[in-house]
Amino acid sequence: MNVWLRRAAGWLAAIGLVGCGDPPTSIVLVTVDTLRADHLGSYGYFRDTSPHLDRLASESLLFENAYATSSNTLPSHVSILTSTYPARHGVEGNFRFYKHPLATDDSLQSMAQRLRAAGFDTAAFTSASALAEPSGVAAGFASFYGTPPYDSVKQRTEFRAEQTVSAALEWLSTAAAPFFLWLHVFDPHLPYAAPAPYQDFFATSPELHAFMRERRIPRHLAGAANAYDDEIRYADAQLGRLFERLRELGPVAIVVTADHGEGLGQHRHEKHSEIWNEQLRVPLIVHLPNGYRGRRTDLASTVDIFPTLSGALNLHLDFGSSDGIDLLAGSRSHLVSQTPVSIEQPRADYAIVGSSIDDTVLRHWKLRTRKDGRHQLFDVAADPHELSNLASARPATRSELKRNLDDILSASRSHPRLAPRELTPEEREAIRALGYAE
Ligand SMILES: [Zn+2]
Repeated sequence: MNVWLRRAAGWLAAIGLVGCGDPPTSIVLVTVDTLRADHLGSYGYFRDTSPHLDRLASESLLFENAYATSSNTLPSHVSILTSTYPARHGVEGNFRFYKHPLATDDSLQSMAQRLRAAGFDTAAFTSASALAEPSGVAAGFASFYGTPPYDSVKQRTEFRAEQTVSAALEWLSTAAAPFFLWLHVFDPHLPYAAPAPYQDFFATSPELHAFMRERRIPRHLAGAANAYDDEIRYADAQLGRLFERLRELGPVAIVVTADHGEGLGQHRHEKHSEIWNEQLRVPLIVHLPNGYRGRRTDLASTVDIFPTLSGALNLHLDFGSSDGIDLLAGSRSHLVSQTPVSIEQPRADYAIVGSSIDDTVLRHWKLRTRKDGRHQLFDVAADPHELSNLASARPATRSELKRNLDDILSASRSHPRLAPRELTPEEREAIRALGYAE
């Protein structure tokens, strides 16, 4: 039994798990678009970007090494909701994959569908056109609040966090327990333009330059980091309104995570769609009523969220054919993430992260496999900013991870994927006008 499994077994004894006879606990899932973990106070950031999230984190179990499955909004959210990798669910990009309704197959049921069948009231509040109702994510939600997929001039549309949080609070005022509420806020996605009083909240400082220097981010991008942090602080203030209401409601399980991070100039990428860790490592804060508080440093994937909740809350849901595990019952040895695919880029880059203990030192080896056949290997526990490529120095580690990646991907692909549906002529035209080929 490895050290993590032993420790997890200890945790099980320490956690006040919900008893079998108790009524089900309501669940709130918060996804913050584009939120990289290392810009939050609870993940060690030097700035006070996230006082409300940090307070929640102090009352929760925090996973320091949590990874999104994709650096793209829709694939990553479908992974969270179905507990499967994009290679299994098949939604590997945004608008081009709009046509997949969730759960044409039992194994690809969304958590909303599973919980609704178990008697939960279900509601989703989303803030961006990538997660509009036709994207497929609405499956299983009795109430769905989202932007139009596109407006009358065929632009993508987005809501500010204030609008979406207000809509969720209104729904909560009459919600009957048990419920499952999913809230998605789009800030801090581009454009970085926080409303007052959060605009220009943060200014360039020697600490910021040191943070950027450590990550090899060019100095001239300090303004983008400031504006991105302004948006986090704004989103955090809006989430504070939700958390305050949830505290009044009594015991509710709350999970906060993100669909992906943001480059901000690290590894010469400013946005997202790559598999560097600043784009994949996301916050994962799991708040269980009467549950364990603390931090875990072993690997976690966002596909683990619902199997973990199901175990902790005694929901007895079957995740047998998913890619997720119950993180309170064990630890993962590997996880996989990928880039989005498109007409121009029909093949993805993949990252596999594997955990090992060498001479009592915990290592997280990460292999990046690129479309052009090149591989890069990083010891991300010792080299968190992925500066030193060890692919030539550690050929055995590289080969072992590649074999594991191939096994995981072929197992994922052996399952039926979500079936595409025919686009209406209007959808076809709108998607084309948005600049996305079908
Ligand atoms: Zn996103």
